[in-house]
Amino acid sequence: MASGTILIIEDNAVNMKLFTLMLETAGYTVIGAENAEVGLPLAEMKQPDLILMDIGLPGMDGLEATRRLKQNPRTRHIPVVAVTAHSLRSDREQALAAGCSDFLAKPSRMKDFLDCVAANMPRTARSTDPSTPN
Ligand code: MN
Repeated sequence: MASGTILIIEDNAVNMKLFTLMLETAGYTVIGAENAEVGLPLAEMKQPDLILMDIGLPGMDGLEATRRLKQNPRTRHIPVVAVTAHSLRSDREQALAAGCSDFLAKPSRMKDFLDCVAANMPRTARSTDPSTPN
């Protein structure tokens, strides 16, 4: 089983449910926020191991939210994986330029989704997993 806490910032309720279900089934603890205005203070307070960031959000968009996370000394160490409906090269470049560690296009297959999350999880969050050699 995977371990670690993931904050999902996503305004689409169906995607939020789907991501939460996939991640909880894999063993992660999930916190959700439906916009960046709620998500940014939650990230500071809860110190998740990883953040899944929808780029298309009402109010502050995911790119701006990621820039703010990366400017904040209390959150800049947390990897942010961008999630977007567009898989254009320019979207990927914009996400990486804003400070995202990786990029997921939706919809994505469950295996690709979980592989991407696992690849971006900091080692410290996985150290309790006996199947992961230290
Ligand atoms: Mn959205």
